Amino acid sequence: MTANPPASPPPPAATPAVAGLFAAASAARGQAHAPYSRFLVGAAIRTPDGGIFAGANVENAAYPQGQCAEASAIGAMVAGGGKRIAEIVIIGAPADPAADASGLCTPCGGCRQRLREFATPGTPIHVAGPEGVRATFTMDQLLPFSFGPDNLSF
Ligand SMILES: [Zn+2]
Repeated sequence: MTANPPASPPPPAATPAVAGLFAAASAARGQAHAPYSRFLVGAAIRTPDGGIFAGANVENAAYPQGQCAEASAIGAMVAGGGKRIAEIVIIGAPADPAADASGLCTPCGGCRQRLREFATPGTPIHVAGPEGVRATFTMDQLLPFSFGPDNLSF
């Protein structure tokens, strides 16, 4: 891509919690099933009690049946008993190391809503490349005026 990326917040200072999430997301990314796009994504969620749940993108020959890494991580979290996202790291880049991997792999629109189900407006969302976190957003920055469980009084 040659378009100028939008301005984004600077990456945070690395913390042990984020480093642990980054490692889990990176390991999951290594297992991604992305034979069609060759764009590998891993995501790792930390729950408030310190649990870590990771997932990878899972593509399908019937393209629309593919699943994003964030959705995989949310599924792992729910299956493991988690119901809240304290923070998440998402690592996305082409499998080909020679490809341009400079873009921010922010969550797609659908995943922003998926994350919102278990996040608060202030939940940090760390967007990373293979080398480390590139930018951190809050849930509200990525999905302002969102519709969430509180709209249904949950
Ligand atoms: Zn997505």
